[in-house]
Amino acid sequence: MQIAENTVPSFRYTLTNAAGEVLDASPPGQSMPYLHGAGNIVPGLEQAMEGRSPGEKFEVAVLPEEGYGPHDPELVQMVPRQSFQGVDNLAVGMQFQAGAASGDGNGMVVRVTALDGENITVDGNHPLAGQTLHFAIEVEDVRAATDEEIQHGHVHGAGGHQH
Ligand code: ZN
Repeated sequence: MQIAENTVPSFRYTLTNAAGEVLDASPPGQSMPYLHGAGNIVPGLEQAMEGRSPGEKFEVAVLPEEGYGPHDPELVQMVPRQSFQGVDNLAVGMQFQAGAASGDGNGMVVRVTALDGENITVDGNHPLAGQTLHFAIEVEDVRAATDEEIQHGHVHGAGGHQH
């Protein structure tokens, strides 16, 4: 079976950045199922999967516009260290929900990207925003989606939603 709308492909992947550093990969010995055509994976990768068959291996470079979007400089903010009262060992890479403490947050997740004395830089962009994503893909299996999966817009069972 070929990958098309309303099929469930399972694939292994390695994601590297432009410098060749591995950013993410499927767990060893496991492949990832998703519902094709439902926007479960980034658009550039979903397009590249179209028409592939089990056993096929390919590489694709996904531009930010077809990946996690461009990096928006307006989502980078400097905030005073006192905003993080109660946080021990504040470090680069920590993630917070903006405004969570006061309850008036917009739900945006921000990452600490720099510490400079009393000034803390936080970035609300997706960690992979602005990056070209280099995927190495191996398609392991393709099956038809069930009616229920199509209705829900996601995969059920092993590697998917358990409900
Ligand atoms: Zn479901």
